[in-house]
Amino acid sequence: MLFSRLSKSSSIFTFSLLLILSACSTNKYAATEKIYKDKAKDFSKIISTTPPLGQLYDSLEATNQTWVGSVNFGIRKPNFVVIHHTAQDSLAQTIKTFFSIKAGTSAHYVISRDGKVVHMVNDYLRANHAGISKWGKDTDLNSSSIGIELDNNGTTDPWPDAQVNSLLKLLATLKKTYNIPTANFIGHSDIAPRRKNDPKNFPWKKLADKGFGYWYDDVLKNPPVDFNTEMALKYIGYDTSNLPAAITAFKIHFIQSDITAALTPVDILVLYNVYTKY
Ligand SMILES: [Zn+2]
Repeated sequence: MLFSRLSKSSSIFTFSLLLILSACSTNKYAATEKIYKDKAKDFSKIISTTPPLGQLYDSLEATNQTWVGSVNFGIRKPNFVVIHHTAQDSLAQTIKTFFSIKAGTSAHYVISRDGKVVHMVNDYLRANHAGISKWGKDTDLNSSSIGIELDNNGTTDPWPDAQVNSLLKLLATLKKTYNIPTANFIGHSDIAPRRKNDPKNFPWKKLADKGFGYWYDDVLKNPPVDFNTEMALKYIGYDTSNLPAAITAFKIHFIQSDITAALTPVDILVLYNVYTKY
């Protein structure tokens, strides 16, 4: 009896402790959590309302349009992963920024220097990480991609193994879950030349070795004499409307040691090699 009373009081104690702990951890993000849930609820209303609100064609007369819901459909999936550096000094600072309605930015995931992965936006929802961007013919990368921010100040910060290893694990899950093509793991600077330079000095080769994005081979072959560097950049996905900016973006990703807006003979060998992989 004594035993059972003890165990009862100890379980009450444990339960109370859990309540206090969960109250503490919930309270910290309670306000932003509520905003998230309310917004998500609003979006779920939009997709479950029939007929869909505001989606009938204005140019068609009412008598010429109707709604009949099909029984076969799914939810759209992300097809790209865009990697960023936060250009901030800590994970806490980035989380705070992503809570700021005024800042208006967010990412699906943030990864700390010690490898902690913080999930902030459901993969099926659109986070505000890409901004004005273009890759190939895609002009709305926010709608088609998962954004991953890596805590790094963007200057001389190294990329710790713990952080890169967590990223590799996350990428493996995302690639498998959404069937994302190898070519579609790219950086913010790739899709927003001139505007962005992140992630800087990033270990893209480590990612490419695991099947996330491409990297050039150790042995580089000479391109044919009629090799057109502008067309190659465009074919890979770069927006070449500002060619020097596209060249700089390519070099931020693949050359890194020199990011001037001109292609050296070695840069051209790298470009040709990368181009042949697409
Ligand atoms: Zn970025």
